[in-house]
Amino acid sequence: MKLRANSRELLWMAVCALLAIKCMGQSRNQIATLKTADARLEVSAGSRAPRLLNLSGASGELWSNETEETLPASVEMNGAAVAVKWKLNPRLSTVAAHRVVFVYESAQPHLRLSWQWENRAQFGPFEHRITIENLGKEEVWLPLVESMELDWQFPPSDDLRNFYVEKGADTPSNQGAHLDSVKDGYRWMGRSSTYAHLIENEEREIIPVEFVFSAGQPHAGWYAGIEFSGRTRITLAREGDRVTSKLGLNEEWGAFKTRLEPGGSFAMPTVFLGAFRGGLDEAGNQLRPWVRTVLGNPVTWRDPHYPLLVNNSWGSGMEVDETLALRMIAQTKELGLEMFHLDAGWFRGVGDWYADAKKFPHGLTPVADEAHRRGLRFGLWVDWSQAGLDTAPGALNARDNNVREWLTDDLPADWKPSEYKGQTIDLGVVAAREYAAREVKRIVEDNHLDMLEHDGYLVAEGCTRTDHPHAAPNRSTLRITRDAGFEFPLGSNSTDVSYHAVRAYYGIYEQLRREHPGMIFEICNDGGRMVDFGSAAHGDYFSITDTYDPLSNRRAFYDTSYALPPAMLESYVEKWPVPRLENFLYMLRSGMMGWMSLMQDTTAWTAEQRAAAIKNFTLYKTQLRPLIREAQLYHVSLRPDGVHWDGMEYWDRARKKGVVFAFRGTISDQPGHRFVLAGLEASKRYHLHYEDGSMPDREETGADLMAAGLLVQLKEINSSELVFVEEVMRE
Ligand SMILES: [Zn+2]
Repeated sequence: MKLRANSRELLWMAVCALLAIKCMGQSRNQIATLKTADARLEVSAGSRAPRLLNLSGASGELWSNETEETLPASVEMNGAAVAVKWKLNPRLSTVAAHRVVFVYESAQPHLRLSWQWENRAQFGPFEHRITIENLGKEEVWLPLVESMELDWQFPPSDDLRNFYVEKGADTPSNQGAHLDSVKDGYRWMGRSSTYAHLIENEEREIIPVEFVFSAGQPHAGWYAGIEFSGRTRITLAREGDRVTSKLGLNEEWGAFKTRLEPGGSFAMPTVFLGAFRGGLDEAGNQLRPWVRTVLGNPVTWRDPHYPLLVNNSWGSGMEVDETLALRMIAQTKELGLEMFHLDAGWFRGVGDWYADAKKFPHGLTPVADEAHRRGLRFGLWVDWSQAGLDTAPGALNARDNNVREWLTDDLPADWKPSEYKGQTIDLGVVAAREYAAREVKRIVEDNHLDMLEHDGYLVAEGCTRTDHPHAAPNRSTLRITRDAGFEFPLGSNSTDVSYHAVRAYYGIYEQLRREHPGMIFEICNDGGRMVDFGSAAHGDYFSITDTYDPLSNRRAFYDTSYALPPAMLESYVEKWPVPRLENFLYMLRSGMMGWMSLMQDTTAWTAEQRAAAIKNFTLYKTQLRPLIREAQLYHVSLRPDGVHWDGMEYWDRARKKGVVFAFRGTISDQPGHRFVLAGLEASKRYHLHYEDGSMPDREETGADLMAAGLLVQLKEINSSELVFVEEVMRE
């Protein structure tokens, strides 16, 4: 396929880019181009609507978009639909080398729509954002506007695949990673919210990104994802020679509408669109560094200890106190771990985020200070958006007259919070948001925190209130859903409720980052339920599943690491039956491929286990962590099933070093396995070092390692090996 080239347009765009001027007024064709090392994008500004013309890959693959953007044809004012006529405003539209903004305006009602594309890095995908401002003097209600609509033309003979991964919420399912054949008539929808629970027969939620590519070599395709944590969805359908996809807010529970006050603006969830070739890991090796570069917190990534090795107290559940905390801090230091993470159980009550005086008679400050004195960091679990029933000063009491207004529904007279779960306040309410911002800041500062973990459901699932900033629910659509024994209203306004709450949450964390630039944020949200690209832009790492055995940890890592940088992916390593040292290492290493948080009583370890753990933590800090941060990642086995062999390969192209994490499941008749490696150079020779000495070190060619594969032999079931690979430098 050939790129369309119009030399006059290109020349004009080059002039515009060089001068970085607002030049739409003079442009005849109103076509603009953006480029990264991996893709090229062409867009045009029609007089009534903009259009994505095409996307092309670095090797010339081209996808042409067939339709103009659908701008909202009407809005609601004073309960009545009012038609909107959009017209390009060339004067306000801008074209520059890194950003194109086409602006459309409506005179009556007076609205301004900005349709923006941007390349925020030299490589990877393009970001797209639509914002609508109300320039009039009256309130307007906006309908749903898709963040992005794709309508590609494909020859019907093209054999296409759609790849997507589930969130590891609760327990990773038996499938997790999905590779669908996109045949004529294919219709798919992947949903994401902060809940990720299964409502009736709905499928599991996905990390909101799709990878669509041709089944034949070179597996070229495109990928698109959503940078937002509210209720969103991605659809993909194929009819004859057309493949269509929509990304944006989810309006399954009733028609979406949202309030736009005079002077206000509404931004659709930002999306990204990129092109790749060479298969899914090559897509990931483009997307993961892009997430780090564009969405990640540069302060965190500059920290050479990131991702940290953590000792977490949840192995003791709610039974934590000062004695346990100080003992764990000593253990943390002795084992070579880097942060003590105090989990739930430290506080007076839900919503009452002050140290329990019986458990911590001196508060948390001496605990934090002791960690700091030993050169460790101190992290804390909080579920800061939850109200309870405590009446102590500073507690968020659901019966308080003000707080009652922030709740999503009236509470029954006999309502009580559980040990660590209360009622989510609606952060979209300005007063609730301001309370939460002050409270989170106080918790961070009072307790000398280096890391703040937020858990629970901080975004309201739905809301019955009619006096909150979000849309009121349509009573006929309202239903009650249940999760983990809790009831939530879910209705036509739930997407708008989630929109406002998520924006408020982002605002709180953006403010906190400005005030405490080195602070690390863990996004737990009931274990792996808020794993998305909006959270990735506001937090530093994710709890990727709420089930902590070796298989669940490896499954969640396998799925999630297709989309997000491994350094951001946390595995909690819980106590697990380890009759042999090999099983102990298998348990540890199953959680050591990204960020590791140990969650067990390390004083119960044998001397042998202790020595092995210290050795492996040292190895993590010196050898594994640099690869986890910087290297390319390859999924070199099928998804872990606990029976067969599975593995992951890190390969750092710049340093010409890598490692293969190899795991043997319970299979009894297969003591050896070959992992077909990727990313190496066929003509080069590589030195192989088996960390546990399961085989002698040796050299092999890249060609052999990428065809026959890397041989690993392990005698025990549920065992592991780390094989370091390094290019042999010729004299
Ligand atoms: Zn509400």
